[in-house]
Amino acid sequence: MKRYDLFINGEYVKPSTGTWFESQNPFTGEAWAEIPRCDERDVELAVQAAHQALTVGPWAEMSASQRGLLIHRLGDLIAQNAAQLAQTEVRDNGKLYTEMLGQLNYIPQWFYYYGGMADKIQGATLPMDKKGYFTYTRHEPIGVVAAITPWNSPLLLTAWKIAPALAAGCTIVVKPSEFTSASTLEFAALFEQAGFPAGVFNVVTGFGKEVGGSLVEHPLVNKVSFTGSDATGKLINQQAAGNLKHASMELGGKSANIIFEDADIEQAVFGAISGIFAATGQTCIAGSRLLVQENVYDTVVEKLLEIAKTAKMGNPMDEQTQVGPVTTPAQYQKILDYIDIANNEGAKLLLGGKPATGQECGSGWFVEPTIFGEVHNEMRIAQEEVFGPVLSIIRFKDEADALSIANGVRFGLASAVWTTDIGKAIRMSEKLQAGTVWVNTYRAVSYLAPFGGYKDSGLGRENGQDAVFEFLQTKSVWINSG
Ligand code: ADP
Repeated sequence: MKRYDLFINGEYVKPSTGTWFESQNPFTGEAWAEIPRCDERDVELAVQAAHQALTVGPWAEMSASQRGLLIHRLGDLIAQNAAQLAQTEVRDNGKLYTEMLGQLNYIPQWFYYYGGMADKIQGATLPMDKKGYFTYTRHEPIGVVAAITPWNSPLLLTAWKIAPALAAGCTIVVKPSEFTSASTLEFAALFEQAGFPAGVFNVVTGFGKEVGGSLVEHPLVNKVSFTGSDATGKLINQQAAGNLKHASMELGGKSANIIFEDADIEQAVFGAISGIFAATGQTCIAGSRLLVQENVYDTVVEKLLEIAKTAKMGNPMDEQTQVGPVTTPAQYQKILDYIDIANNEGAKLLLGGKPATGQECGSGWFVEPTIFGEVHNEMRIAQEEVFGPVLSIIRFKDEADALSIANGVRFGLASAVWTTDIGKAIRMSEKLQAGTVWVNTYRAVSYLAPFGGYKDSGLGRENGQDAVFEFLQTKSVWINSG
């Protein structure tokens, strides 16, 4: 079994507790790695290192273009190590290797984009309304950033946070999910290779409250950037608010994927399938509510079942596999509980609905791709985030009905509209309460497009030009020019 150490101040070190915990492979159910169990003493060391690097020494004194160059080099190193890092992620989260490799190959773009932005962060000279002043703004790093990340896309979501944070000149302490810490610990080595000064990037590992909690409460942490469940996000946001820290939150979703009768039905059905079954439904943007206009409801359901029932489950490392295991036993149980809830609420089970136990599933935590029809929006299965391969189909009459169903949840992360009517697409995209609206596509994300949630799905935006401002604070300088 492989034993990892944590990464503080440019070095791999042992945890203060002297203990490690096991990380399991969701496909085999076996432990494959030992992850350091940190506590508040390691958090203290990591935050002190980050604070030191922020305030004195080479990082603090470096020009923005030099910083950009380092960030760019980091992107190159990720590209060179993509396959290895993707394999580590699959061992930990059981997602398909093809998907994780795709993510790892795309991650360098975040570092190239924000690395290029580092020396383009400009203040302004202000046309003052008072005589005798020369006044201008400067954008300064917000400070030490605590990045708390989930298990579904560990390094991709780390990149969303740290690439703009580094461009802004911040220093970072990452706390990856206890289920998928290994890839972030391996990634840390690349900072040294790229030539980053010690202390700019640090990783502490361990459990939510124990490590994440003390990180969020540390007085020298200036900003918390979190991706995870809405319950944990709300808790962390409260803790951060109590200490007046900046916080951005990328939380859950219950996204509506809306098929109108005038849509290209074949295309829409493929979009619906990938929207919910990609990553075994374990994504915040999962299209877990499929809204179908009544005239095409039966056709859509028929086509959907035809494709979904052929989904190939199995080893996530196998290129032929389409649906992998669920990442954790707790998540597996939660999904099965939601299937029970939906059955008890009177939703009509059309496909799946139980654990998958075939030989191809090894000893993994597999749930069959599951589809419920005749779901009503007030049912729990339509309101709550399942984070698994469970699709709820809801019938609607017209545009107004679709909008009221789509917006009738407390989440607002993403949504999609399938239609050939451009006017309808524009009207819907204006009125949908969601941070992302896709038209005739699903799941597209990029470093170029801002991403984040309306309502309970989050605070702040990641990606795109403005994300760098999430890691900057603005100072006004007044000079008496006499
Ligand atoms: P999930 O594991 O279901 O995605 P969580 O939101 O619980 O959802 O976890 C996301 C991240 O938040 C993980 O890194 C986890 O360790 C961390 N975390 C969980 N609870 C807390 C907490 N109370 N304080 C800080 N971090 C936490």
